[in-house]
Amino acid sequence: MGKRTIASIFACLCIIPLLYTVLATAIIRITGFGIVKKANRTGIALTFDDGPHPVYTVKLLDLLKRHNVRATFFVVGEKAQLHPALLKRMHAEGHQIGIHHLQHSSSWLLTPGQLKKQLVETEQIIQEATGVRPFLYRPPWGFMNAASIPLAKSRDYKIIIWSHHFKDWKVASCETILLEGLRQVPEDGSIILLHDDGTNPGADDEAPDVMLSKLQIFLEEATAKGVRFILPISN
Ligand SMILES: [Zn+2]
Repeated sequence: MGKRTIASIFACLCIIPLLYTVLATAIIRITGFGIVKKANRTGIALTFDDGPHPVYTVKLLDLLKRHNVRATFFVVGEKAQLHPALLKRMHAEGHQIGIHHLQHSSSWLLTPGQLKKQLVETEQIIQEATGVRPFLYRPPWGFMNAASIPLAKSRDYKIIIWSHHFKDWKVASCETILLEGLRQVPEDGSIILLHDDGTNPGADDEAPDVMLSKLQIFLEEATAKGVRFILPISN
C-alpha cells in the first residue's frame, strides 16, 4: 500500500465519525432542517431540561402554577421513572413533557440502535406515567448524530432546540446574567432553555435553586406586563 492510499484511508476513518457526530449537528443546527428553534407565534416558550428533580421540580411547578404559566419539560427517562407522580402533576397542570434521553447520554456516543433505545424507553416511561405518548424530543446538549432526524421522523417526534439560554446550569451565571437575559428575550416565539436539575457533569447542583429565584422575579414582572407564555408546539 502506498503512502497516498494509507493517507486516504486515514482521512476516511477520521471524516466518517466527524460526519456522524459534530458535522451532522453543525449542518442540522445551521440549516434548521428537521428542528424547531423558535415557535411560529407571539410569546415566549419556557423549557426546562434534565429533571424531574424531587425538590426543584416541585418548587418550579408551584411557581408556574402561581403565575398560570404553562411550560415544556424535557425529562431524563431514568429520573422520570423514579418520580412518576411529578410527571402526572406536570401533565395534569397543562405542561408538555418531552424526551431528553434515558440517561442524559450524548448522541455523539450512541449508535443508531442505542439512540433508538434511549428514545423508545423514555417514551414508554412518560406514557406509563401520564397516559399520553410524548411527541417532543430534545437531544442532551443539543448534540445530534446522522440518525437523529430520521429516527425522530420515524417516531413522529418534533425536535425542539432553543433560541436563548443564559448558562443557568452554573450558579455564577444565574446570579449575573440570567435575570437581565430573561428580561430582554423578545416575544416572537423565542424558546428559552432552562434546567430544573443540576446533577449533570458540568452543572452546579444548587444552580436550579438560584435559577428559580431569578425566574420568580422575571415571572412577576412579565405577567404584570402581560407577556404571553406559549408552548413551542401546541398539543
Ligand atoms: Zn440536558
